[in-house]
Amino acid sequence: MDCLFCKIIAGEIPGDIVYEDDKVLAFNDINPVAPYHILVVPKKHYESILDVNAEDMDIIAHIHKVINIIANEKGFAQNGFRIINNCGADGGQEVKHIHFHVLAGKKLPMYEK
Ligand code: C5P
Repeated sequence: MDCLFCKIIAGEIPGDIVYEDDKVLAFNDINPVAPYHILVVPKKHYESILDVNAEDMDIIAHIHKVINIIANEKGFAQNGFRIINNCGADGGQEVKHIHFHVLAGKKLPMYEK
């Protein structure tokens, strides 16, 4: 499968990794829009949240647990942060491997309504 994030997970493309366990990889976004811009991805390929079936839904809780760990390790937990999951064309999803953006380190602007 020609998936960019699968290649980063496999080590075929370098990623600036900030956290890894058996289920999840987190790495710095190549084009950050905030002082901290980390992508948290499951190692198993799902195109989007629409592909995560009920039996696999624990991975979504695990990803949020990992975000909690990263926020504390990096020191931005106290000031706050934003988690974004873009889904599909209207959601602005460019990479078709589910990922959660974690933005922190500045007062973030309100999103477009
Ligand atoms: O949610 P969306 O699919 O638009 O986000 C994809 C993200 O992946 C972008 O923020 C982009 O900068 C990032 N990216 C990356 N490394 C790559 C290619 C894209 O961090 N090699």
